Amino acid sequence: MSECIFCKIAAGEIPAKLLYQDDEMLAFHDIKPAAPVHFLVIPRAHIASCAELSEAHAPLLGRMLVKASELAREQGLNEGFRTIINTGRIGGQEVYHLHIHVLGGSQPLGAPF
Ligand code: AMP
Ligand code: ZN
Repeated sequence: MSECIFCKIAAGEIPAKLLYQDDEMLAFHDIKPAAPVHFLVIPRAHIASCAELSEAHAPLLGRMLVKASELAREQGLNEGFRTIINTGRIGGQEVYHLHIHVLGGSQPLGAPF
């Protein structure tokens, strides 16, 4: 059995507040939101990080970004949102299953850098 927490969410083995799922991706609310709206979009397949991506993943990653934008709209983020992908130790990645963060709310987010 996978030890990866996001693989466990994808398999329904641990609960998450799901926003969306299909045969290749899921979206769920972040357990520790850093903004009024904060959700994650993940591939169902275990890809550890952006550093493991290859050309074959390009269509999937494109569809994940399109879905992220669609869900952002559904969550009322009509004036914009922020997408973040943390990669590796230097990128501050904590969960080694690729995920796109989507953050937003009624106020502009602080400068990220
Ligand atoms: P990162 O630093 O990009 O790897 O971020 C990992 C994110 O996953 C953090 O924002 C965590 O709050 C979030 N997270 C960790 N465990 C869970 C969980 N079980 N359900 C939802 N979000 C989670
Ligand atoms: Zn995984």
